[in-house]
Amino acid sequence: MAPKKGYITIDPFYCKECHYCISVCKNSQIIHGKTYNEKGYRSVVFIGDGGCTACGLCAVMCPEVAIEVYRD
Ligand code: SF4
Ligand code: SF4
Repeated sequence: MAPKKGYITIDPFYCKECHYCISVCKNSQIIHGKTYNEKGYRSVVFIGDGGCTACGLCAVMCPEVAIEVYRD
């Protein structure tokens, strides 16, 4: 069976740069951001190189509910 694939969206407005999502993603799909949001935080970025398995861990960990997960 082919491995599950997916992608996420991150709403930069709600990100507070805690990096919990980065710490739980086993596939290194989320990286530090460089662009500041309206609250003065640099929102993280989904790199989307095909390695996301839509496991949902990042969304579960996000205290700001900034992440949504989708299956391809
Ligand atoms: S867990 Fe949520 S608030 Fe924290 S860095 Fe990730 S997207 Fe931003
Ligand atoms: S859904 Fe899973 S694999 Fe995809 S970015 Fe989030 S933690 Fe990483």
